[in-house]
Amino acid sequence: MTYDIVIIGGGAAGIATASSILKRNAKVTIAVVDPATDHYYQPGWTMVGAGVFTLEQTRKAEADVMPKGVRWIRLPAITIDPDRHAIQLGDGSSIDYHVLIVAPGLRLAWEKIEGLPEALGRNGVTSNYRYDLAPYTYRLVKELQQGRALFSQPPMPIKCAGAPQKAMYLSCDIWRGCGLLPAIDVEFHNAGAALFGIPIYVPALMEYVEKYGIDLRLESNLVAVDADRRVATFERKQDGVSERIERPFDMLHVVPPQVSHAVVANSPLAAANGFVEVDETTLRHKRFENVFGLGDAAGTSNAKTAAAARVQAPVVAVNALAALDGSPPVADYNGYGSCPLTVERGKIVLAEFGYGGKLLPSFPSWLLDGTRPTRAAWFLKERMLPPIYWQGMLKGREWMAAPHKIGKAA
Ligand SMILES: Cc1cc2nc3c(=O)[nH]c(=O)nc-3n(C[C@H](O)[C@H](O)[C@H](O)COP(=O)(O)OP(=O)(O)OC[C@H]3O[C@@H](n4cnc5c(N)ncnc54)[C@H](O)[C@@H]3O)c2cc1C
Repeated sequence: MTYDIVIIGGGAAGIATASSILKRNAKVTIAVVDPATDHYYQPGWTMVGAGVFTLEQTRKAEADVMPKGVRWIRLPAITIDPDRHAIQLGDGSSIDYHVLIVAPGLRLAWEKIEGLPEALGRNGVTSNYRYDLAPYTYRLVKELQQGRALFSQPPMPIKCAGAPQKAMYLSCDIWRGCGLLPAIDVEFHNAGAALFGIPIYVPALMEYVEKYGIDLRLESNLVAVDADRRVATFERKQDGVSERIERPFDMLHVVPPQVSHAVVANSPLAAANGFVEVDETTLRHKRFENVFGLGDAAGTSNAKTAAAARVQAPVVAVNALAALDGSPPVADYNGYGSCPLTVERGKIVLAEFGYGGKLLPSFPSWLLDGTRPTRAAWFLKERMLPPIYWQGMLKGREWMAAPHKIGKAA
């Protein structure tokens, strides 16, 4: 079979792009390749971990989000041959394309932390990065009366770089509300050198670090977990010398290292870091003119978030349609991404920024100042963003995300 457009991945980015294309031209033949039976609203998992959302609010059947008019191929893509314009699928068959859109997200590399895969889900080891474990986070938080709670953040790149600390602040807020916080030792081990990559948001976050009495340990990377002994091992590099420290814990919230899927990393489409080597603005592949990449799979320097995919999808849609006509890209992407940092139940520091750390707030500061914790941003996250995701983004309604024409004033 040859399709006009093949999309690898029916997640946030892939479905939004398919809908945006069909909205403009219902006649193109599109195949979405994805073996998943379920589609997840992953930004909701932070809220599940704090008992704000139910697990079911974050999941729909993949069949229910698949746009009418696309052919859904329920198999994984195994290899990509961009010279032959062909994809090999999980059952050994292959399909051809005129234009390819690569959006399989990224892979959570739990196995890179020694002992972690077998530790998850027992003896206090949890992660909001797994659908089935987010409720366990909330259970652990409710049950912990005293002791030590560790939260970890791996080296970049990761999706939603704020999510490791979001889990921590919401847990601390629950313990504070029950009067238990003084009895709980909270440590944040961040492999990075800063609390958050965009400096303007750091002061507001530091106020919460201090308010909750969090022991902030930068450049401290989780390398091993022993669930039976309830001990986590962190590696710290100082002056080129690395030392390992062991920290006993009662609760450990882990965020795993994150890598490109093999289908991309092992293909000619990969950049040196394994992600899809696309131009940062047009999202077109740097070497293959009929290939585009977006979402977490893209080797771009924006924050890997659903918010980024929401803005990227219409850009890729119009550029892919142009490529189908043999024309150059017509729209560009400014690197917009957003990270709603849930600093307490009811308040969020809403980080919104693009390439080079340029602030790109969606609202005027008198309405919503993203550098400060606000109730308005919490309302947005709790009440507005889920319907914007399910009813807007996935259905090609490009609310506040119309594709920007190349050369037009911003
Ligand atoms: C705990 C957590 C909190 C987050 N919080 C926020 C937030 O507050 N705000 C925000 O904007 N973002 C947030 N994110 C990030 C956001 O969820 C992701 O950036 C977004 O889902 C990326 O979309 P994607 O389509 O690239 O990848 P995904 O949504 O992960 O979808 C990838 C799809 O590709 C499929 N796939 C994988 N491999 C293959 C293959 N070989 N062949 C075919 N298909 C394949 C998968 O089955 C999946 O359906 C959060 C993420 C997590 C985990």
